[in-house]
Amino acid sequence: MSPSKDLLSESEILRYNRQISIKAIDFEGQEALKLAKVLIIGMGGLGCAASQYLAVAGVGELTLVDFDIVELSNLQRQVLHQDADIGRAKVHSAKDSLLLTNPHIKINAIHGLLSDDSLLEQIERHDIIVDCTDNLTVRQQLNQLCLKTKKPLVSAAAIRMEGLITVFDYQAESPCYQCFSQLFGEQQLTCVESGILAPVIGVMGSLQAVETIKLICKIGQPLIGRVLMFDAMTLEMRQMKLNKIDKCSICSKSNS
Ligand SMILES: [Zn+2]
Repeated sequence: MSPSKDLLSESEILRYNRQISIKAIDFEGQEALKLAKVLIIGMGGLGCAASQYLAVAGVGELTLVDFDIVELSNLQRQVLHQDADIGRAKVHSAKDSLLLTNPHIKINAIHGLLSDDSLLEQIERHDIIVDCTDNLTVRQQLNQLCLKTKKPLVSAAAIRMEGLITVFDYQAESPCYQCFSQLFGEQQLTCVESGILAPVIGVMGSLQAVETIKLICKIGQPLIGRVLMFDAMTLEMRQMKLNKIDKCSICSKSNS
């Protein structure tokens, strides 16, 4: 019946049935997911949560980038890594776990901290970038390179019992991560020393997967120019408008 039959095998159609049943997604959305290439930077708590939902949802190609190795203190929230993975590169541990959840997809693992040139090369060959790092330098590097290539960046952070998420599309009127930092402060986005409740980071990573899937399928209203804030203590979600800053050192000159 569907022209999609060629792209999706019978087994894939069965596997993704509940998702294809969503009218906004349908076969067309599932095909778009299969054809999509998503770059995930950071395989900690956010990266583990986001990537596992992108993998089971059928995103055709995922590239995982992280320079870290698995440690015991990661296991509380980084759900793709297990005790036996301690000492392994996070990207290798995560790749093995993800392939067990969906053998139909391709996963590339890059262990290391990428130079501007190498990261740019990766960004150019992917459709959407998911920022799951807690490293400020890497976030700034991602912002500059995504601005340069106009590739959408799905960015989130979690700390203690709180999380934040926003999407940058790098269009002329849209804010960038630097605009965001001026409003929220950069320290808001790192979670190393303050602690983090595992399911809170899972919620934020899952929301990154939701936004990525919406962008790929071109459905709904992506979180562009808005920041969603989640407070687990009260279980409230609030939204704030995020405007482009006129004199942003990163995005205003390049668009003028
Ligand atoms: Zn900006």
